[in-house]
Order: sequence, then C-alpha cells, then structure tokens
Amino acid sequence: MIIRIDYKLYDELAAYAREHLPEEACGLIAGTEEDGERFIKKIYYLENIDHATDHFTLDPKEQMSAIKDMRSLGLKPLGNWHSHPESPSRPSVEDIKLAFDSKASYMILSLMAKEAVFNSFHVEKGEVTKEDLRIISDEYYY
Ligand SMILES: [Zn+2]
Repeated sequence: MIIRIDYKLYDELAAYAREHLPEEACGLIAGTEEDGERFIKKIYYLENIDHATDHFTLDPKEQMSAIKDMRSLGLKPLGNWHSHPESPSRPSVEDIKLAFDSKASYMILSLMAKEAVFNSFHVEKGEVTKEDLRIISDEYYY
C-alpha cells in the first residue's frame, strides 16, 4: 500500500504532537483511495481522553463528528494516527491488540529522537506490515 501525505499536513501533525508532549496525541486520517494508493487529504486532531504518555483513546463523540465531516467532504476514513513520545515508530503490543480494522492505516509518529519518525502500518490478525508512506512536496508536481 502506497500512502501519500503532503509535507504541510505532516508538519502540522508533528507540531501538534510536540505541543501535546509528554502525552500521546491522536486523531483520524481521511482522504481518497485509488488503484490501491491512499492520499491523505485531511487530518483530524482528537483529544486523547486517557491523557497518558504511553497509550491513547480517541474521544468517541469527536470521532463521530469527524466521520460526519469526512462524509460531507466526500472523503474516506483511512485510519488513525497517534504519537509515541518515548518509543519507536511501530505499534506497541497494546496498539496491535486494539487494531481491529484490517482496512485501516495505523500511523505512528515517534518523538523519542530529535528528528521525528513517521510510519504507517497495516495490522491484520496481529500481523504488522509497514506501508509505503511518502511525504510529498508540491514542488515535485508543479
Ligand atoms: Zn502506540
């Protein structure tokens, strides 16, 4: 699975996640899907109702209004994202246990090193596969 995100959206997400340190930040991703490629068009910033440094729970009400917003914009829910303040950019044991949707992309931003690391994963029956995440710049296209 190729998954593309504009660097401006990515920068925003990374800045938001840093603002929320030491807690994990989280949200949803929406966009389009064509020929097995995903294009992230919008990132939703949701409250981590656990306010924890090592796990997250999305606010169910905010989740519903985000889904409504996606529908109104004609976007597809593509999965979710969260940050790992102090661990690598890969799903934790808990993340894998809670990854029920094999169609979703699970994106994880690690802030443990100076340079943030962002990866996207597919999780199916406890098996984790890294997706081909590409952070793109307008300049390549115009
Ligand atoms: Zn996690």
